[in-house]
Amino acid sequence: MSLSIYDSATHVQREFVPLTPGKVGVYLCGATVQGSPHIGHIRSALAFDVLVRWMRRSGYEVTMVRNVTDIDDKILVKSAEAGEPWWAWAYKFEQEFGAAYRTLGLLPPSYEPRATGHVPEMIALIQEIIDAGHAYVGNPGNVYFDVASLQDYGSLTRQSVSNMVTDESDMESDKRGPHDFALWKAPKPGEPADAAWESPWGRGRPGWHIECSAMSGRYLGDTFDIHGGGIDLRFPHHENEQAQSRAAGREFARYWMHNAWVTIEGEKMSKSLGNSLTVRNIVKEVPPVVLRFALGTVHYRSTVAYSPETLKEAGAVWERLSGFVERSVAAVGEVSADDVAALGPNDLPEAFTAAMDDDLNVSAALAAIHEKVTQGNNALSERDDPAITAAQTQVRAMLDVLGLDPLADPWRSAGAGSDHTYEALDTLVSQILEDRAAARAAKDWARADALRNSLTAAGITVEDSADGAHWHIEGR
Ligand SMILES: [Zn+2]
Repeated sequence: MSLSIYDSATHVQREFVPLTPGKVGVYLCGATVQGSPHIGHIRSALAFDVLVRWMRRSGYEVTMVRNVTDIDDKILVKSAEAGEPWWAWAYKFEQEFGAAYRTLGLLPPSYEPRATGHVPEMIALIQEIIDAGHAYVGNPGNVYFDVASLQDYGSLTRQSVSNMVTDESDMESDKRGPHDFALWKAPKPGEPADAAWESPWGRGRPGWHIECSAMSGRYLGDTFDIHGGGIDLRFPHHENEQAQSRAAGREFARYWMHNAWVTIEGEKMSKSLGNSLTVRNIVKEVPPVVLRFALGTVHYRSTVAYSPETLKEAGAVWERLSGFVERSVAAVGEVSADDVAALGPNDLPEAFTAAMDDDLNVSAALAAIHEKVTQGNNALSERDDPAITAAQTQVRAMLDVLGLDPLADPWRSAGAGSDHTYEALDTLVSQILEDRAAARAAKDWARADALRNSLTAAGITVEDSADGAHWHIEGR
């Protein structure tokens, strides 16, 4: 058995055979950094994080490229409304996305190219497309892709051009065909002067689609293994990416993977819902690991039906799995991270490996983890130490594939998101606060101060109020 993935270009699940044995190149369309990341954005990055983790554990050397679109119409409009420079606006949200990825334990990509850092590559690619006869210059500063010139156009999404929808808002008079799209665009009136670059066709900025064609080529080559993104990007974005690259004589992606979206009470996430469902807001209510669990344990091609209930259920399951890991550590000690990392697909339960190799079937994989936890819990009650150690190693290795090993970062440094850690700390701090109250009652100020200072030194802030002293960890 080896990995097979559902190729959304051919609509069949087929064995994954990399271009270069042992190596994989993955390009994932990243964020357009115009607003705060909500769970719909994060789901895509998370689904492909699991792909990368499984491929690495299967022995592949994976190069993962996830871009940042930091110039675009919405960024220009929103930053102008806010009275901020467009580049400051984009960077602010780029940082927010970065923080959300780290909070949810996503591995950093191998490269994270920004569109604005690759304008020379885009200009060179546009010139190649023009030279090949597949693009033309319109009014000064405008270059369009000539859809009618490319026979292959529509092949990714299996549509004939005559059936394609046209974007009514995009009907510039200098376009030859209604489906032609911009590779390079002249600045619109009122746009900031620093949002345009010199080009052979006049000052302007790149179209969205050309960014990904240029950046994937720059880091992964003319032909690469997997292109991923949300299902809503298939058309026109991915169709156009492929058309541009093929027009320039490049083969482009060999497999396409698309994740489904997140729905809220049966509806696709709307803008207003998205605003309240930012990662930042949700992790105020639940530990980040529970959010990751809820979003990451649904098959990437199935919709995540999100509700407060979803989080509650995820929290309960997480308690069961992480609870076993905690008890096993108490019984036999912690298995080293190296030992957990050493387990390859053949060292893990067959059901787990078969599930992950079957187009990343994480729900079946989760069932295999539950089974191993049941065995581990039995071993705990029988005090069978070798079996406990083996179960801890396997459970953590399987959870790690889903980015959920409770003893790996960031969950470990976040106190494993565990209530038990908090309870233990609360017991100790409360005892110290009682001693301090007793010292104050006895007017032993030196001792009261010393106790408070010992908490401060540990990063714990004490606030006195009418109903007694309260504590919290500094910065949380
Ligand atoms: Zn893209």
